[in-house]
Amino acid sequence: MTNPSNQNSHLHERLHALAQNLWWAWHPEVIRIFTDLDPHLWREADHNPIAFLNSMPPEQIELRASELVLHSRINYAFRRLNEYLGKEHTWGSIHCGNLWSRPVVYLSAEFGLHESLPIYSGGLGILAGDHLKSASDLDIPLMGIGLLYNQGYFSQRISKEGWQGEEYVDLNIHQLPLEPLLDGNGNPQIVRVDIREGFLLARIWKLQVGRIRLLLLDSNVDGNSEEDRQLTSRLYGGNDRTRIRQELLLGIGGARILQMLNIIPGVLHLNEGHSAFAILEEVRRIMQDDGIPFDRARRRVSLYTVFTTHTPVAAGHDRFSPDLTEEHLGVFRETLGLSHDDFMALGRVHPEDKGEPFCMTVLALKNSRRANAVSAIHSDISRRMWHALWPNRPEAEVAIGHITNGVHVLSWLAPQMHKLFETRLAHNWPIRMTHQDIWENIAAIDNGELWEVHQILNTRLINFVRRRLAARAERLGDQDTIQQAESILDPDILTIGSARRLATYKRGDLILSQPDRLLKMIADPDRPIQIIFAGKAHPQDNEGKKILQSIIEHTKNPAVKRRIVFVEDYDYNVARHLVQGVDVWLNTPRRPLEACGTSGQKVVLNGGLNLSVLDGWWNEAYNGRNGFAIGRGGMHNDPNVQLQRDAEYLYDTLEKEVIPLYYDRDADGIPHQWVKRVKNSMISLGWLFNADRMVRDYALRLYLPAAAANSAETV
Ligand SMILES: *Cc1c(COP(=O)(O)O)cnc(C)c1O
Repeated sequence: MTNPSNQNSHLHERLHALAQNLWWAWHPEVIRIFTDLDPHLWREADHNPIAFLNSMPPEQIELRASELVLHSRINYAFRRLNEYLGKEHTWGSIHCGNLWSRPVVYLSAEFGLHESLPIYSGGLGILAGDHLKSASDLDIPLMGIGLLYNQGYFSQRISKEGWQGEEYVDLNIHQLPLEPLLDGNGNPQIVRVDIREGFLLARIWKLQVGRIRLLLLDSNVDGNSEEDRQLTSRLYGGNDRTRIRQELLLGIGGARILQMLNIIPGVLHLNEGHSAFAILEEVRRIMQDDGIPFDRARRRVSLYTVFTTHTPVAAGHDRFSPDLTEEHLGVFRETLGLSHDDFMALGRVHPEDKGEPFCMTVLALKNSRRANAVSAIHSDISRRMWHALWPNRPEAEVAIGHITNGVHVLSWLAPQMHKLFETRLAHNWPIRMTHQDIWENIAAIDNGELWEVHQILNTRLINFVRRRLAARAERLGDQDTIQQAESILDPDILTIGSARRLATYKRGDLILSQPDRLLKMIADPDRPIQIIFAGKAHPQDNEGKKILQSIIEHTKNPAVKRRIVFVEDYDYNVARHLVQGVDVWLNTPRRPLEACGTSGQKVVLNGGLNLSVLDGWWNEAYNGRNGFAIGRGGMHNDPNVQLQRDAEYLYDTLEKEVIPLYYDRDADGIPHQWVKRVKNSMISLGWLFNADRMVRDYALRLYLPAAAANSAETV
């Protein structure tokens, strides 16, 4: 027999080891262990296993583990983690030859990996997080670099009047799976970037995402001015000055970390322009190491630099005034031997225009081997948008291709659906998810079985929303809502979810534009609908906050019978509940401004249907039988006309297609035609719109050619 105290010390070690690698976050069997130990505390800890384990006295953990016979499950999970980390014959080991000596370095201003690590704001961050997780699953030699925001983005608190307030809380670094990067003497490694009026310093934290290492720069160190200690406090906070300083740290600081670690990048992947200064630091390094002039070094760096652009919205591209740029990059520019004008030219569309600001996207586009957009339609728009950079080429030959985004399936798939996939797709389906044929097995699943799993998920979502609404009502002292919380929403009603950043072009309130028509659908005695909204407005975006306020106004109308609700504080956790439990996912951006959109892809996996404008990924995904389209892909120069037309299409589609199909029930109570459409959606889209397919595309089409050109040049 094993000695019990020995067993218990193993228990602690193993639980902590599991908590230290974010691998747990996409393995439901590990999450289940934490939940089973104490469901209430687990929720209280915001699903942060380190905070959770710290909050439970060791004796209590042991007691619970014994009561629930968790030891073997913990041992099994621990073994699975080690098998995962040590696995051979992976996709990457077979396909990524060149990259094993010189890895891909993936830079991004945000990473959305889990709700307990709030260093993301929205789609861009979630995409970066999903990219790392799939790179880990596929075993691609890749390292991430980003910033550690000590106060994250923000927590949304909506007042009684419906106005968004922002709450910032300091992260507790000791409750996160972060380890400081130390030098040989055990002192923290510090990155330094000189500017005109001094310097910026940052320490570096290491985070393990499965097999992938993510390094995060943090300016909160001794030696920085008080102001600069706060520099990396908030994501997208402050002004241009904050922004350029953050980007100096991310780009130049990030590339300097590589030098500290003696890593020579095989590929530099800039996820959005925020990190584009990394190009310049790589140029500086090569000029110094190889003693070659700026132009040659620049050409060499561009051989292995890959750039992904993420937005067709002009304001989404950082631009810095010549003065601000000179103040922050003047010192660095001198090390490159460039004049102010030569330097500014790197970030200008028209170098001769001395008033033009320095644009990070321009820097990235002019100095990368390949640039890509994130959906087919987005690459068309991007080529038009940046045509002026290559005035002698026809627009169609502007070198911006596309790799459509996908989502990390195991992070977004509900455990209940996971179980169904395991028995029905194939036992090893996660490593074969990009194969179309395994998804075809969905066709054979019994409609009733699939519907039942979906209904369970829908009920879970409704319970979650009720809890969230009750919590907000408690805060506001809203007795009515507290008392009625249990009767808000109904699992037998068609549930529409709509959650996204409340930016004006996303038109999150389009469905509210004809209130009478909406009210009629909501209050229909036989075939009613209910809508769950969520989303944050940027703290400085008053227009976005007004959209939010108008949604909140609607939720208060007694005539809607509590069938329109708004869930506060849209984050990873809220998103997971929503995408897993809705019947219909509504997306109404102003075409063509949605670069890709990924939330609808999460819905596909969990058996919901998309109802969306034909923009971004949906423009290439919709086939007439796997969801619903709003309109036919039209556009109009006048945004108001476009809005009215799209609203008309939206109501028509709801009234004539979506609602009738959902309520068309057989004697068994199952909407067979609806379920058929759900199956079409999973079969036609699951294998394509996932992050494994996306990362493989990046590897085969961009990383490997870039790495080959890089090594041909340097051998
Ligand atoms: C998936 C996700 C997004 C991106 O979704 P869009 O379709 O681009 O709106 C944004 N925020 C969160 C929290 C998400 O999970």
